[in-house]
Amino acid sequence: MKRTALITGASRGIGRAIAIRFAREGYDLVLTCIHSVKELKELAEQLEEDYKIHCLAIQADMGSYEEVGHTFDKINELDVLVNNAGISYVGLLSDMSAEEWQNVMHTNLDSCFYTCRLAIPLMLRKHRGHIINISSVWGSVGASMEVAYSASKGAVNAFTRALAKELAPSNIQVNAVACGLIDTDMNSHLTLEDLTDLCEEIPADRIGTPDEVADLVLQVANSPAYLTGQVITIDGGWR
Ligand code: NAD
Repeated sequence: MKRTALITGASRGIGRAIAIRFAREGYDLVLTCIHSVKELKELAEQLEEDYKIHCLAIQADMGSYEEVGHTFDKINELDVLVNNAGISYVGLLSDMSAEEWQNVMHTNLDSCFYTCRLAIPLMLRKHRGHIINISSVWGSVGASMEVAYSASKGAVNAFTRALAKELAPSNIQVNAVACGLIDTDMNSHLTLEDLTDLCEEIPADRIGTPDEVADLVLQVANSPAYLTGQVITIDGGWR
């Protein structure tokens, strides 16, 4: 049976790894990114060739309801929605502008509302579906210098738990995967010394890989229907 997954923010990092995992499973894919459309299109072509699937690459800002709407104009059916697109902001809250705050909230939180708002009717038609939100350990414990980011991911966790209750009677599962430190461009501001210090606090003694997160996301998409409303942490034992 053909299944379709929408993965937001798939041009690189965790989203890209998730796209490759789902392609390998035979899913048709819709992938989005905000800037790196050339990389996204190359990835889509490669996945179509390697795994004989259909893969649509769309440049769209998931923080804009209008652009999410244009994305969904191209989607007729959907089995899995992975809300992965996200940005961080590192700096003191007292130095942050209102625009910077709003940008983090639009990208990390509002995007989940926009995609879910449009995905749910498609899933209701099938009486099944999976929504998987990529969250962060900072959403539970909070990080100094990342207040907006932590607040957005804490909200994503609450959004996940609440929406799961709303959609469980319709057989639609809603879960979040909360990542610890993962090796992507999002952490490129960290120096080698920063990374070494951080790894010392992680029982696994290393940074996680996007492939490990992708494996978990695929397992959540394959999980029994009774698994819903969970924030599943992948952090090398840090918490
Ligand atoms: P990344 O910066 O490598 O990739 C982010 C992706 O999101 C890119 O494809 C980018 O184009 C896309 N994106 C950003 N803003 C967008 C927007 N407005 N609309 C559409 N796409 C947009 O980051 P990553 O580390 O792969 O992060 C992926 C997710 O994992 C994010 O939600 C992030 O918060 C979460 N996360 C990452 C870490 C980590 O350590 N890397 C830890 C916890 C959670």
